[in-house]
Formats: sequence, structure tokens, C-alpha cells
Amino acid sequence: MMKKALITGITGQDGAYLAKFLIEKGYKVYGGFRRTSTVNFWRLEYLKIKDNPQLELVEFDLLDQGNIYRVIESIRPQEIYNLAAQSFVGVSFKQPTLTAQTTGVGVLNILECIREIDKNIRFYQASTSELFGKVREMPQKETTPFHPRSPYGVSKLFAHWTTINYRESYGIFACCGILFNHESPLRGKEFVTRKITDAVSRIKLGKQECLEIGNLNVKRDWGYAKEYVEAIYQMLQHKTPEEFVIATGKSHTIREFIEAAFECAQMKITWKGEDVDEVGVDSNGVVRVKINPKFFRPAEVNTLLGDPKKSKEILKWESKTDMKQLCDIMMRADMARNQG
Ligand code: NAP
Repeated sequence: MMKKALITGITGQDGAYLAKFLIEKGYKVYGGFRRTSTVNFWRLEYLKIKDNPQLELVEFDLLDQGNIYRVIESIRPQEIYNLAAQSFVGVSFKQPTLTAQTTGVGVLNILECIREIDKNIRFYQASTSELFGKVREMPQKETTPFHPRSPYGVSKLFAHWTTINYRESYGIFACCGILFNHESPLRGKEFVTRKITDAVSRIKLGKQECLEIGNLNVKRDWGYAKEYVEAIYQMLQHKTPEEFVIATGKSHTIREFIEAAFECAQMKITWKGEDVDEVGVDSNGVVRVKINPKFFRPAEVNTLLGDPKKSKEILKWESKTDMKQLCDIMMRADMARNQG
């Protein structure tokens, strides 16, 4: 019998990579997507799995518990990967209630259904390094105390503890992966890395003059999404449900990521000025990077740096792609896309 997995958030970056990975492992994958007026399957098409017979798309919304119940009851999956969320920190400040309902309470909706339908279903929750927010120690590991700094982080904190609580209360195999930032050519353009590679490739091609950006000095631990979904899978195959930090163990500033992107485009950027007046100029003196305070966050997470020791030791998982290689992968994809 083929193993059955339900992936929520199939239209997102991780949903697409995980679906491909599980299809290759021989799973029947049910991909939960929410109804929108225009279809949003470009990532599944990019990975050439949209019409794979092992993939079935099912209408699924985290906000509708009856819908979730019927989906799980009819599929009876062995594994549920909850990747769906309002996942963008910036938007969470503008739509905090929606973020709490989707990213927080939505997870409770799924767990309640598992509790009713079949407690043997294994459940993965997509937790995040944003839980650490105003960081209490460096680097951050599984035992580091949380201090989220956005409605997104706070909602994920509720989801994180709810998942652990359902494990402790009802014996459900429910675990959370605390994933640090992971990027790819499938990242949404609103996220900073993809915003940079899209803009820099357009600048190189003469289609855009300048990149407008927020805080240049925040540091993130960036890995490659395609590799991170393998860690997600391994967590659900592990003998006990546990939390794992998934990270590279190295962090870089947004400034460094921008420099790397211009380097991929064979352009050199020099920084001039200070604070909001700082600009990045190319070798002809043309301003290519500008600060726009509209992108600053009401409360910022300055530095995230993960300690991947536990996942390396127990899951035997390790990040293989460093920031420059990741930037190169993304730049190549965006150069090809923007060339057309
Ligand atoms: P993403 O590309 O933004 O995908 C989010 C997915 O959630 C999309 O498929 C979206 O559907 C879906 N969704 C949103 N609201 C929904 C609702 N009410 N009901 C059902 N589906 C809904 O995010 P990602 O980068 O793949 O990340 C996957 C998960 O990991 C997310 O939970 C994210 O918060 C978490 N995470 C991500 C990172 C990272 O660096 N990427 C790090 C840590 C944790 P639409 O396409 O219809 O919008």
C-alpha cells in the first residue's frame, strides 16, 4: 500500500519541494490548497509535478474546521505536514488578527480533527526561528527561550505549544521543526532574498534602476529550501516526536546578500552615506540600492543564528548549500525568468 501524506500549503515554496520529495519516495500526496480567484500552481508546474498521478489537489482552508475534518476523514493520511500559514512577517503587522487565526488557531483546528479522527496520524508543524525574535542566546537551539517580535511570531508560538500540548495530552505523534530562513527560486517575491535576486537580475538586464530595501544590517541564517524539506520528512520518520532546529549555523547580513547578488551579476556595489541615507552605487556611480523606511518593521529581529547540532547528530541532516551558493542558484533562475 502506498503511504498517504497530506501537505497543507501545497502552493507555497516548501509545499512544492516537499510534494516532489515525497512523490519520489513513492507516496501518494494530497496537496491542500485554498480557493482563490486565480489559480496559483506555478511552483508545482516549475517542479513538473502538477499533473503527476501521485499528486491530488484538495481544497483546504485552515480557517474552516468542517472542511479540514472532511479532508482528513476522507483521505485518512498516515502523515500530515502543516506548511500552510500567513507566513510573511511584514503583513502580520498589517493583518494581525487574520495571521493569528490562520497561523495560530488554524493549527489547533487540524489537531482537533486528528484527535477526533485518528490519533495515529503523524503531524508536522512548521515552526520558525522567528519564535526566538529578540534572541536570548547565541546561537539559538531547541532549548533557547522564545521571545517573538511580530504577530507572525506570536501566532507561531501558539501553534508551537499547541502542537506540543496535543502530543503530551493525547499521545499524538506531533512535532515541530524550528526552521531558520530557507530560500530558493520558488520563494515569494515579497521575501527579502527573492526581492533582491529579482531586482538585481532586472537591474543587470536594464529593466529596473534601483532596489529599495529596509534594514541592511539584520542578520539571518539562510539555507536552501530544497534541502530543508528533507529534514522535515526525517522528523516525521524519527522514532519519537521531538523538536529540531534546522539551520546552517552561519548568518549573514542583508547587505552581504545584496553584495553576493550583484557579484553574481558581475557588478560591484560600493556603500556610501549613513542610516536611511545610505546608498549602494555601481562602478559608474549610479545608485542601485536605496533605503526605504517603509520596509522597516515596528519591532525588528536583529540577528538569527541557528545551532544545527541536534539535527546533525540525530537526524543525520546537514545543510550543504552556503549563502553564496544559494544566492547564485536564485540569481540564475531570476536572470532566466527576467530575460524573457
Ligand atoms: P509560503 O510560500 O508563504 O506558503 C504558505 C502556504 O500557506 C501557501 O500555500 C498559502 O496558500 C497557504 N495558506 C495561507 N493561508 C491559508 C489558509 N487560510 N488555508 C490554507 N492554506 C493557506 O511559505 P513557505 O516558505 O513555503 O513556508 C512553509 C511554512 O513554513 C509556513 O508555515 C511558514 O510560516 C513556515 N516557515 C517558513 C520559513 C522560510 O524561511 N521559508 C522558515 C520557518 C518557517 P496561497 O498560495 O493560497 O497563499
